[in-house]
Amino acid sequence: MISMNNVYKHFGPVKALNGVSLEINRGKVVVIIGPSGSGKSTLLRCINHLEVESSGEIFVDGARVNGNQKHLNSVRSQIGMVFQHFNLYPHLTVLENVTLALRVVKKAPRKEAEVIAMKQLERVGIAEKAHNFPTQLSGGQQQRVAIARALAMNPKIMLFDEPTSALDPEMIKEVLDVMLDLAKEGITMVVVTHEMGFARAAADEVIFMDQGIIIEHTTPHDLFNNPRHDRTRLFLSQIL
Ligand code: ADP
Ligand code: MG
Repeated sequence: MISMNNVYKHFGPVKALNGVSLEINRGKVVVIIGPSGSGKSTLLRCINHLEVESSGEIFVDGARVNGNQKHLNSVRSQIGMVFQHFNLYPHLTVLENVTLALRVVKKAPRKEAEVIAMKQLERVGIAEKAHNFPTQLSGGQQQRVAIARALAMNPKIMLFDEPTSALDPEMIKEVLDVMLDLAKEGITMVVVTHEMGFARAAADEVIFMDQGIIIEHTTPHDLFNNPRHDRTRLFLSQIL
């Protein structure tokens, strides 16, 4: 579903990605861990071309992700992304936030968009807030709306960039529970997170990154119980 072949991304002198190659198969849940600045967000952002790789190749569902705008729209429409800060529009209701892309990008009529949106809001357990504004919701509720918004576009892939890092501790579980349900449904997911409980429970594979390089890419069991590299061991000892 996702293939990266020797991808480099430089920001001036900073090498955010330093030769990344990986394959992620359809339906897999892959968790990416690693220290701050190791290139995790850049890797995710390159997959849907929010960043353009300096060199190397990226394929999504067999199609090369490149600068061609028409092609890019089609790649992006297959990928949902959820960020640390939920990025909901404060002046729109929950329902309007979720229907916006359906109406603007997919040109869905209002009624049709609302039916789809309500279904996704139900899926994340927040349908009763459809007519509220984001500021009237808790952080955990807002993040579930952001997940519903991404799901409404019916993506093949969901990318999550530290979706619980900005949340108060008591709200983390409600968001992880929604993600766990998604993982069981078989959607391809790539999740950057520090929640090792989630990685153990939901991940098929875990990637440890450091300094723009994939150091290990293996099963959660292997990575947590039998890390092969000193850098992985050091990182795990700091967070576990
Ligand atoms: P992580 O998500 O693992 O914390 P990032 O992918 O955000 O790491 O960043 C990797 C490196 O690239 C860091 O050194 C960061 O400062 C740098 N970087 C990321 N985005 C930009 C940018 N837009 N401009 C300049 N440097 C950037
Ligand atoms: Mg990041």
